[in-house]
Amino acid sequence: GTLIRLGVDRYLYHLRLPEETLMDVSKRFRQEMDRGLGRDTNPTAAVKMLPTFVRSTPDGTESGDFLALDLGGTNFRVLLVKVSANGKQRVEMENQIYAIPESLMRGSGTELFDHIAECLANFLEKLGIKDKKLPLGFTFSFPCQQTKLDESILVSWTKGFKSSGVEGQDVVSLLRNAIRRRRDFDIDIVAVINDTVGTMMTCGYDDHHCEIGLIVGTGTNACYMEEMRHLELVEGDEGRMCVNMEWGAFGDDGALDDLRTDFDREIDAGSLNPGKQLFEKMISGMYMGELVRLILVKMAREGIVFQGHTTPDLLATGHFQTSFVSAIENEKDNEGLLSAERILKDLGLNPSPEDCVTTQRVCQIVSTRAAHLCAASLAAVLRQIRDNKAAERLRTTIGVDGSVYKNHPQFARRLHKMVRRLVPDCDVRFLRSEDGSGKGAAMVTAVAYRLAKQQAE
Ligand code: BGC
Ligand code: MG
Repeated sequence: GTLIRLGVDRYLYHLRLPEETLMDVSKRFRQEMDRGLGRDTNPTAAVKMLPTFVRSTPDGTESGDFLALDLGGTNFRVLLVKVSANGKQRVEMENQIYAIPESLMRGSGTELFDHIAECLANFLEKLGIKDKKLPLGFTFSFPCQQTKLDESILVSWTKGFKSSGVEGQDVVSLLRNAIRRRRDFDIDIVAVINDTVGTMMTCGYDDHHCEIGLIVGTGTNACYMEEMRHLELVEGDEGRMCVNMEWGAFGDDGALDDLRTDFDREIDAGSLNPGKQLFEKMISGMYMGELVRLILVKMAREGIVFQGHTTPDLLATGHFQTSFVSAIENEKDNEGLLSAERILKDLGLNPSPEDCVTTQRVCQIVSTRAAHLCAASLAAVLRQIRDNKAAERLRTTIGVDGSVYKNHPQFARRLHKMVRRLVPDCDVRFLRSEDGSGKGAAMVTAVAYRLAKQQAE
């Protein structure tokens, strides 16, 4: 096994990033953050550092019934969240997953929003609350330009979405119009948030040190609480505001070109958004399995695996799912190698034991690079927060969600370990969010309600 692994390591040399390189990536990312925050540099910055107009994390006194929509993760969902403050914080929910057919993800925007409104109507009907004009928070997990909590202009679609006529538009208006067209119910859309923000908010409910939200799922991104005085795009210098970094776009200006491999370029060329989200394409679940597949195809063509054979399934885009990577990296007994054998057979191959070891190693290299790149950008955020507080040591909590973080057997451990190496002077707690992108929207809506009430008093 060891010899095979060494061979793969040598073959995939460019995907194995030493700690010095990661430190350098971290420094580059810190510069990108500065460029995104600055008034003059923002227009040409790749990492947009978008203001969210979320200024306060929950303090536990919020309460009420809230609706939430969650679009842009693995599933589209509608939720009813009951927040009750009576002494003990409690959040209860009802939630329903609805399918969004691929034709709607890539069709017309009007059809997409009509579908969303229809799912909402169905949900309200099911719960018998169609006549109740409830406040709604909308988790819309794409880069958006916001000027207030309830206005959110889509900058560009990412991941698997590409529906027409939405980019450049306010998604709140699109949703309001779709609901108006139906005339069968009414709701009060209070807030649009990114999933990273929702994740930070739900974790902030349990841990008041939480000031970073991280997603490693279909896409990847993070947000954190930044000092208003550093947010040159927003009026005012007092207090803090949550910034949606949109770190998936790191490298879109060429900043990572020396680290991107032919496989990364091939992934990008075949994607729905070529030239965009280049950092995300090296990391997230939408691309991880595909990266492994491209590597295996190349190795097969060069006769290094599968005795030089390929099959139609191995050659088909998307046929090596990211969940396979998780299964193959299972370290319990021989589970991972057994999974490799089964998965490769399902792809029509006839793998030798050596092929299974090779495949496992390829998976490890691809997913480790992903975890380490995330660690590099996260380390930059931690240094920024530490410097903001002028603290020797920083104690902080990161709320985390996403299918890769939660389902891959080694990803979280490798990420934590590398963050601790890159910023040894930070005590970081990683807190798994329980359904951040769903509940989070309700939390932001609840906080907005509390603040509005306080202002009225
Ligand atoms: C989107 C972000 C989102 C991330 C995780 C990216 O593709 O641009 O807004 O937070 O995916 O879902
Ligand atoms: Mg300012």
